[in-house]
Amino acid sequence: MIFAHDTEAVLRAAVWLVNSLSPTDGDRLTERAQLDEFLTNERYSGDILGTAEELRQVRALRPRLRRFWDVDDRDQAADLVNELLAECDARPYLIRHDELDWHLHLTRNDQPLEQRIAAETAMAFLDLIRTDEWSRLKRCAATDCSDVLIDLSRNRSKRFCDTGNCANRMHVTAYRARQRGLE
Ligand SMILES: [Zn+2]
Ligand SMILES: [Zn+2]
Repeated sequence: MIFAHDTEAVLRAAVWLVNSLSPTDGDRLTERAQLDEFLTNERYSGDILGTAEELRQVRALRPRLRRFWDVDDRDQAADLVNELLAECDARPYLIRHDELDWHLHLTRNDQPLEQRIAAETAMAFLDLIRTDEWSRLKRCAATDCSDVLIDLSRNRSKRFCDTGNCANRMHVTAYRARQRGLE
């Protein structure tokens, strides 16, 4: 484990959100049910309203999150993180609830879900920047894929997304190219 468990979970969720709006494969977050399914896997604290507006706001957040994969270096990333933290009105505080001992919340439970996702994601990106691990944000190495990934492997060897079977596809393509070369 490279980062705290909840940081990794938030990063994986951000990857899912970004990839759900694919320039090549379309939009996989158009229905309320798809958002609900996402939310059963990712536990953001706070209220879930279940409204169409909530869905619209989360969908609108995705291009903003993709920008983090488009920056050239961590200086630019730091600017984006600060921007996002300010916009989602993050005000960290300690809280104890349910079976959980004192821990950090960034937003109030009644803030819009999109703001709470943005705040958690900004803090996870902040961790990547301050530990100088920004290069773990990668784009899929497959030539025909625009998906993003977060490389949490120990040796930073991950090159392909988890979404589109890209690793297998590229291996087959490379294999066929080699076969042709041998003919
Ligand atoms: Zn909590
Ligand atoms: Zn891919």
